[in-house]
Amino acid sequence: MPVPSYIVSCTKNLLIAQDIYEFRFAKPKECNFKTGQFVLFDVPLVENSADIQTRALSIASTPSEDELIFVAKMKEGGRASRWIMELLKVESTVRMQGPFGNFTLDEKTPKDYLFIATSTGVAPFRSQIIDALKRGDRRRMDLVYGVRSQEDLFWDQELIALTQTYDNFFLHLALSNPTNDWKGHRGRVQTLMPQIIHDFSRKSVYVCGSPEMTKELKQLCLEQWTITKTDLHVEGYI
Ligand SMILES: Cc1cc2nc3c(=O)[nH]c(=O)nc-3n(C[C@H](O)[C@H](O)[C@H](O)COP(=O)(O)OP(=O)(O)OC[C@H]3O[C@@H](n4cnc5c(N)ncnc54)[C@H](O)[C@@H]3O)c2cc1C
Repeated sequence: MPVPSYIVSCTKNLLIAQDIYEFRFAKPKECNFKTGQFVLFDVPLVENSADIQTRALSIASTPSEDELIFVAKMKEGGRASRWIMELLKVESTVRMQGPFGNFTLDEKTPKDYLFIATSTGVAPFRSQIIDALKRGDRRRMDLVYGVRSQEDLFWDQELIALTQTYDNFFLHLALSNPTNDWKGHRGRVQTLMPQIIHDFSRKSVYVCGSPEMTKELKQLCLEQWTITKTDLHVEGYI
């Protein structure tokens, strides 16, 4: 089957935290995806619009939202980063292919969900958590979400609001370099996990973020917390 391809039109592009942009596109009617999947955008060079390469971005919206929501961390001189900062405006159009990927929720598992993200690794989890909660999934869901400092946090208010609406959703915010007034967890998520989660045997685990973070957590999950491969799902933002 050919991969679906769409021309999508931008509805929003905003700096929402330090080096973090959230951008949205109107969702084409025929566009279907599973929560946790990603798409590929045709990203032009700022200096030459005919020079195109694709970049992967996780879909952060749920299938029932009218917009496709994305969040990206800016890399100095990066192709997608420059496209987002310099070219992508409301009503800009771009070709998008997908959806792709198997980083989808195991809905049949009897276990609880444990989501672990750093920075924009939270994107697929926004989609998965909101969708599962709205579908009425009653299992316990924990999201451990780490960034460096307060300026790097985004979507925390929306996630906190979800904890107030759904008593089976628990948010654990962690800063590795907080100021004195920070009341949440302090440290890297890799180090903090055993303080936050006491019984890993009941968890179906999802990890998303930089390749360094996902590699380290994968090893800890399999070797120290004895999570089986069936219960471990990893997406590294290579
Ligand atoms: C499945 C998947 C999903 C993803 N989802 C997301 C997401 O939701 N959000 C997100 O932020 N990221 C996500 N990523 C990562 C994303 O695809 C990009 O890799 C990332 O945003 C960097 O893109 P870029 O084009 O800005 O940088 P790139 O152009 O890829 O460059 C990366 C870095 O390398 C440097 N560089 C590039 N070329 C050279 C060169 N010739 N010499 C020296 N240095 C160079 C750049 O300056 C930059 O710092 C995902 C990745 C995967 C695989």
